[in-house]
Amino acid sequence: MTCKGICTRYKAQKPVGTGRYASGQRRCQICEIFIKWEGLWCPCCGYRLRTKPRNLKYKAKLRARVEADAAASLKPQTIKIPAVAADATSSDFVEVTLQTAVSEGWTKTKTVAELRKSEGMTIKKAKEFVKEAFLAKSEPIAIKA
Ligand SMILES: [Zn+2]
Ligand SMILES: [Zn+2]
Repeated sequence: MTCKGICTRYKAQKPVGTGRYASGQRRCQICEIFIKWEGLWCPCCGYRLRTKPRNLKYKAKLRARVEADAAASLKPQTIKIPAVAADATSSDFVEVTLQTAVSEGWTKTKTVAELRKSEGMTIKKAKEFVKEAFLAKSEPIAIKA
């Protein structure tokens, strides 16, 4: 796959006020040129043309992976609840909040704020819960021998 020089016939001008891809131009990585061409393949070298900017493609891929990870973390898993939760008056709620925080990937700050808002917890106590819950999360869930 090499550039045969045919692509220059299809060379696209840089559009005004819009992106090259947005205006239907395609890029050949081999010929290193933007062309006006309807097909998927470069009329010159035969290589697959790019129809979207690389970073958008990358972002989409990244998003898909993050979503897959999020879905995976929703699978039932035991999250170790800090022992300090046991003496809390409404430990169930604390437990749920911490589990939600860990599975939804809240920041520690947000989790502390939530605990304080709903439980009227002191910031010190809330931070303690959060610290332990996040520590528990970073530990391997189960290791099968
Ligand atoms: Zn070419
Ligand atoms: Zn080409």
